[in-house]
Amino acid sequence: MTAKPFHVAIVGGGITGLALAISLHKRGVSFTIYEQAAAFGEIGAGVGMHANAVRAMKICDEGLLAGFERVATRNAWASKKDVWFDVLDGTSTEPANIPEKLAPLFILTGHEDGHAACHRARFLEEMVPLLPAGSAQFGKRLVSVTGVEEDGGNPLTLVFEDGTTAQADAVLGCDGIKSRTRAVLVAALNKVDNKDNAIIDKAKPTYSHKFVYRGLIPMVDAVAVLGEERSANAMLWMGPDRHALTFPVNHGQTLNLVAFVTTPEPWPSQDAQQLTLPATRDDALRDFAGFGPNVLGLLGKAAPQMDRWALFDLAEHPLPQFYKGRLCLVGDAAHASTPHHGAGAGMCIEDVAVLAELMGTLKSKEELPIAFAAFDASRRGRDQWLVASSRRSADLYEWRARGRDFAGIADEVRARQAYIWNIDLDKSIARAKEDLTRRLAL
Ligand code: FAD
Repeated sequence: MTAKPFHVAIVGGGITGLALAISLHKRGVSFTIYEQAAAFGEIGAGVGMHANAVRAMKICDEGLLAGFERVATRNAWASKKDVWFDVLDGTSTEPANIPEKLAPLFILTGHEDGHAACHRARFLEEMVPLLPAGSAQFGKRLVSVTGVEEDGGNPLTLVFEDGTTAQADAVLGCDGIKSRTRAVLVAALNKVDNKDNAIIDKAKPTYSHKFVYRGLIPMVDAVAVLGEERSANAMLWMGPDRHALTFPVNHGQTLNLVAFVTTPEPWPSQDAQQLTLPATRDDALRDFAGFGPNVLGLLGKAAPQMDRWALFDLAEHPLPQFYKGRLCLVGDAAHASTPHHGAGAGMCIEDVAVLAELMGTLKSKEELPIAFAAFDASRRGRDQWLVASSRRSADLYEWRARGRDFAGIADEVRARQAYIWNIDLDKSIARAKEDLTRRLAL
């Protein structure tokens, strides 16, 4: 592999930043990751990956896919292998551990992979060894980037909170929902100073009026409530203004519980800087009053102290472009979404596959903005569709969009999920490369 004649900065070492680093390394692109934390780290929660995400990992790097497969857990039962979720009435008082008494309202069967999920921190631990030694710097909280608006080939300068600076031929913003690179991009697109708050506020995520309790429950406790079948396989529990997901992680030793609440109240901290607030299991039980013994029983097995996570997204403030010059945003920085399709991280990995494949063809640093334009054209529509569709999906699950028309809900959710699952990423990348070739020839 011939080394590319440019060096890029990756801001943020979450799933997007690390997957991108691994994918660029494979394609001869040198990089430095700048992460604000003292070490790579992920929260103790599960993350589900659809077939599209798994196919994207394969394009990114075989090692990335192998790492995911080592930590992935799928539905345990052979009969559930291609099932994404059994969808159940969470308000039912029938016991889930007697399956014939509580039949699913409908089953979301979609793709060859069923439900694949892993513990986030375990996945990150698989990714880190795939990075070349010395390619990450920690404690580097990005404050600004200068030179974005200049056309020449001068390097961009990254300025960090600790007063240090670094230079790179391009900056790839993988800094997540609270992205600083998004503020820099929006300032550059609007030709204003990146301290102009009125403009920068338009690039901030807003509250979707949903929050979530997350818990990891020992499988033995989950089985005591739900029985074997409903614990070993992925379930979606619907109800009015609330819904919950349960699926196995840690090779079936743990049940991941995600319990969503819709509220008219504003999020107490008003912005996306503080996404979690302390809460208790009793708060969760109170919020799920009216649900049946299955969901309440599981919540009762959660730890007494549970955080509440606000769900912010960019639905109200979609970016007009993911790039400007040699600054390009990737993953949640570009299109933070609520998680109701279970596909936000999957879209991040699709982004990475497309961007890495484009950058892998480049011959000079002057071509970088053209590759970013082709990336933007290829990805923005699909990524922003997910953000809007995710909000709609939650309203379907919570009987807000179509009431209790379960047949209608099933049809609509199936169509939306199919759009996510059935992408032909190879074709999409081939088209993006053709577009890049066309743009380079202009
Ligand atoms: P992040 O994970 O936010 O990483 C950003 C990184 O950048 C962090 O390491 C951060 O420290 C660093 N950083 C931030 N600012 C700076 C700065 N100024 N300077 C330097 N470093 C910085 N997706 C799925 O596909 N499946 C799911 O099942 C799923 N479930 C979800 C459940 C919930 C409740 C939520 C909220 C999201 C869920 N998602 C899911 C979405 C998924 O979590 C995100 O899409 C994904 O984690 C985004 O990864 P990222 O690397 O882009 O951003």
